[in-house]
This record gives sequence, structure tokens and C-alpha cells, in this order.
Amino acid sequence: MEKRIYNFSAGPAILPEEVLLEAQKDLFALPGVGMSILEISHRSKTYDAIHAEAKEGLKKLLDIPDDYQILFLQGGASLQFSMVPLNLMPPKNKADYISTGSWSKKAIKEAKRVGTVNVAATTEEGEGDKKFFKRIPKQSELKLDADAAYVHFTSNNTIFGTQFHTEPEVGNVPLICDASSDILHKKIDVRKYGMIYAGAQKNMGPAGITLVIIRKDLLERSQDSLHTMLNYKTHAENDSLYNTPTTFAIYIIMLVTRWLLKNGGLNKMYEINKHKADLLYKCIDESNGFYKGHAEKDSRSLMNITFNLATPELEKKLIDEATKAGFNGLKGHRSVGGLRASIYNAFPTKGVEDLVAFMKDFQRKNG
Ligand SMILES: *Cc1c(COP(=O)(O)O)cnc(C)c1O
Repeated sequence: MEKRIYNFSAGPAILPEEVLLEAQKDLFALPGVGMSILEISHRSKTYDAIHAEAKEGLKKLLDIPDDYQILFLQGGASLQFSMVPLNLMPPKNKADYISTGSWSKKAIKEAKRVGTVNVAATTEEGEGDKKFFKRIPKQSELKLDADAAYVHFTSNNTIFGTQFHTEPEVGNVPLICDASSDILHKKIDVRKYGMIYAGAQKNMGPAGITLVIIRKDLLERSQDSLHTMLNYKTHAENDSLYNTPTTFAIYIIMLVTRWLLKNGGLNKMYEINKHKADLLYKCIDESNGFYKGHAEKDSRSLMNITFNLATPELEKKLIDEATKAGFNGLKGHRSVGGLRASIYNAFPTKGVEDLVAFMKDFQRKNG
């Protein structure tokens, strides 16, 4: 079998080895079925069980209450930027958005096509093509409209490496979260949310599937005039089987939930995630400025650790040497530059320890 290297990619991203090995086995023939998971009908009993277990696994991990519906959709988190306002903005046709990064801005762009967007806060800094975000706004900075249809925020800013550590407080207005890059990284109180959505390819599964967890009363907002496939009610009424779902991706999510449950659930996962991030941030903070963390300390992400070196040349040198040493995907997003280490649930602690050792060695040689 091919040797695996350390994968720090922001997404599609690393999956648990156990999950990949299990999928490899089932890819030729599911036990007792004699057909591949890629070949079976989405209307078969075998698939029904996979679909149900994926939902059940998520329900257990996040304690999702019965008055919430779990949907598996397509079109990425990016289609949710449109589906959220199309379904949930009317009849008020105004919503609050908290702008903390590139993905928030993309969500705002689509919402503006539907109604009035109040940017409740933005932490954007800089000018022209040098604009960036490095922090999460404080509660006191939020200018919320008590009459808004909902408040939208991005829990983890994949590109800039910042993260909300507690949900914004929004009173009785439904809170809607793009949790694409930190879903399942810790236990959250789902009851605080009207809806959570996440593209799976960062912390939950392969590309091509989007998880939506929506409070059932909000489904009543979707108007019949909406296109069938863009209407949450269609997917809720058909248990995400109105059309052919991404059966393979849902199967992988099912395996990932099994892996998480077997390994102690989300409280345990959070403990490990915190430890991994602490190791890297400590290395950055104790480097006497050789490594400079991009995010402000109280806004730091546990999932995407962003940092810079003194010059782009030195950054390139580190990335080249790291790649040769088996650390892949450390280049920062093209809009930010620098470096980014994405260390999602499946990323092993040993890999973070090895990266820290590599970074210390690089500093000794180049500092
Ligand atoms: C990656 C990402 C997206 C976009 O996801 P797609 O599935 O590519 O549409 C949206 N929001 C966040 C926070 C992301 O990290």
C-alpha cells in the first residue's frame, strides 16, 4: 500500500485512516450485499440503513433534539449562501450578517440578492487588495436588529484562521451558522441555533455533500413559489431523498460518526483538538517573532492555524523544505499568503508534534 504523508490541506482534507480502510474494503463489495457502495440504489434497504445511521450518528454526537431536521444536500456550503436567504428571509426580507472573513462576505453577496442585509459587525481591515480579517467581533460590537429574519455568522474562518469560541447572543432571532470548517470539532448546544450548515469536506467527510440541521418550525417559512430543489421543505419531506443523494459521501459521513463515537465523542475530540492547537500556537509564540501568528490571540482557530515568517522568500523556503519532509498543504490561502496548518479532527497529534519539531529546526537553521 502507498505510504501516507501528513496532510494539512484546508479542504478537501484529511479523513481518519480507519474510515479510509473500511471504505476501501466495502468499495468492492459491501458485506453480505455483493455490490459496491458505489453501485447500490438509493432506494435499497442497504442504503436506507446507511442513511439512517449517518443521521443517527450525528444526532448522538451533537445531541440534536427531535424538533430539528437533518438534511444532506448538494451544491456545497456555497449553495446555502443562496438557499438560506431564499427560504428564510421572507416575509421580513431583512437579515443580520456578521462579517468575519471571505466566506461571510460571499454569504452576504447572495443574501443581498434576496433582501436587505444589515452587516451587524465587520472586522475587516486594510485597503484595496490588501484587505484582511484577524479577529472575531466582541458581543458589544454587534449592531443587531431585533426584528431581523435571522442572524448569520461563520463559526470558523478557514482562510484567516479565526474562530468564534462562543456563539453570538442574538435574543429570539434565529441564529444561522456556516460551520463548514469546525462542525463536530466540539460539542455545541444545537438549541441555540435556528440552523447550522456545513460543507462536509473539511471536518466530516468527502467533498460533494452539505449537512443542514434546521429547526422544524423554520421550514414553514419556505414558500411554495420556490424552485423545488431550492426549497428546504422538499428535502425535509423526502428525508433528503427527493432526488439521488450523494450516497457514497453519506456512507463516509456514517463511518466518520462511528469513528467519533468509538473514540469518545465530541468532548474527547475537543480536548485533543485543543491540545494539538496549543502545541502549534506555543511554538509560534515562543519563537521570538520568527513565526508570527496571523489571528489575534483571543480569536485563534483550533482548526486552521495561520502564520507568517519575516519574508515571502523565507515562507517559500519553509514550505518547500516541509513538502520534501512529508508535510503537505501548508501554503496559506492565496488571498492571505503565509502559512496555514489545518489540523481537523482526523489529523493525528503525532503529525502536529512532528511539524513543531520541524519548525523549531527550521528556525535554528534560518533564525
Ligand atoms: C470551504 C468553505 C465554504 C465553501 O464550501 P463549498 O462546499 O466549497 O461551497 C463555505 N464556508 C466555509 C466556512 C468554508 O470553509
